[in-house]
Amino acid sequence: MAALLRAVNPEVGMISPRTRERMVAALRAAGIDDEEVLAVMAQVPRHLFVAEALACRAYEPVSLPIGWGQTISQPLIVARMLSVLRASGNPRRVLEIGTGSGYQTALLAALGYEVYSIERIEGLFTAAQELLQRLRAPNVRLRLGDGSQGWEAFAPFDAVLFAAAVPCVLPPLFHQLVAGGCLLMPQADTADGQRLKFYRWNGQDAEEEDLGDCRFVPLLPGTVNQRDHQGA
Ligand code: SAH
Repeated sequence: MAALLRAVNPEVGMISPRTRERMVAALRAAGIDDEEVLAVMAQVPRHLFVAEALACRAYEPVSLPIGWGQTISQPLIVARMLSVLRASGNPRRVLEIGTGSGYQTALLAALGYEVYSIERIEGLFTAAQELLQRLRAPNVRLRLGDGSQGWEAFAPFDAVLFAAAVPCVLPPLFHQLVAGGCLLMPQADTADGQRLKFYRWNGQDAEEEDLGDCRFVPLLPGTVNQRDHQGA
């Protein structure tokens, strides 16, 4: 983490750490009480994960566009997902589907996890890869591809985390989890709109818990290459 901060020292000054502390205070007020999660969110420079023009809004309680019709999730939902993940037994190897800006990826790495993350849009994949390298985020492996099939080559994972809403028809990736592992995902198309679902896999069956409503961009099939699309 210290290395991560040293690497970006000149830029960290651009948005004062106090701005980040205000975001953390708001998260605390909203009920986030995992000190490790709050600590990494106080350290990772969220403003670097959005376009320069939006940097001054990076610590507001909103999601923001990151190009290609996608958004960086708002801080509260990221904090909730990370808190649930830690409370689930503090996994070691985590698969994230939907790298997007790479912000949540950086937080997962700062929490000390071995992170595998898949993004389907080449422009986002490339930008996240460059930024995470510049920040020296440790133990992160990124891949350009359709994450709906998981990442068999590196399975099994202790946890799988979807950052995009999963349609009910998609068979969940339980077979890429260790027994006792967990899967956290926004589920689309339920009678109550999108719901954040937590599953605990025992090797044969999954126990489901509904963690309330949420709003994510949809999980989409296939990949989008630079030549297919000229960006935001
Ligand atoms: N946690 C991210 C949120 C990004 S939004 C952040 O902090 O920025 C969700 C991302 O999921 C988008 O970038 C979208 O392109 C990606 N996505 C959607 N469907 C996908 C799929 N099938 N495979 C991989 N990534 C996908």
